[in-house]
Amino acid sequence: MAIQRTFSIIKPDATKRNLTGAIAAKFEAAGLRIVASKRIQLSLAQAQTFYGVHSERPFFGELCEFMISEPIVVQVLEGEDAIAKNREVMGATNPADADEGTIRKEFALSIGENSVHGSDAPETAAEEIAFFFSGLELVG
Ligand code: ATP
Ligand code: MG
Repeated sequence: MAIQRTFSIIKPDATKRNLTGAIAAKFEAAGLRIVASKRIQLSLAQAQTFYGVHSERPFFGELCEFMISEPIVVQVLEGEDAIAKNREVMGATNPADADEGTIRKEFALSIGENSVHGSDAPETAAEEIAFFFSGLELVG
């Protein structure tokens, strides 16, 4: 597998509880390098666009309100097989189903307030990185 980049969000439940560093340490321990990082406040329109794929789901409104409830930290992670590796480190969407040692098992509060987002495929990773970062913010 080649070196890949993936997009990550440290979500409001985690930034609020001062877990940014603890979560970043999990990425680094797994061999993922944080090559871009910034703390931002999403607008409702940005949250709705970012999660547009879920617009028909019953939890869409709740998800978007949650994502704007506190600042988030958006990051680009780089490493061998980074997309799959990040999903592994994150753990299952519902913390009740997440494996021991994963971010969601250790830190998530619920299926909605689950501490992190990670891209699920190369196409979405590229789109999500471009949504939040300009070329100038991405060092080669
Ligand atoms: P993410 O896309 O955030 O990395 P994921 O790919 O594991 O997580 P998705 O199915 O894409 O999960 O859902 C996106 C997000 O929507 C979840 O991370 C969670 O915050 C929220 N979500 C998913 N299912 C539910 C649910 N049943 N109730 C409330 N919120 C949910
Ligand atoms: Mg997803």
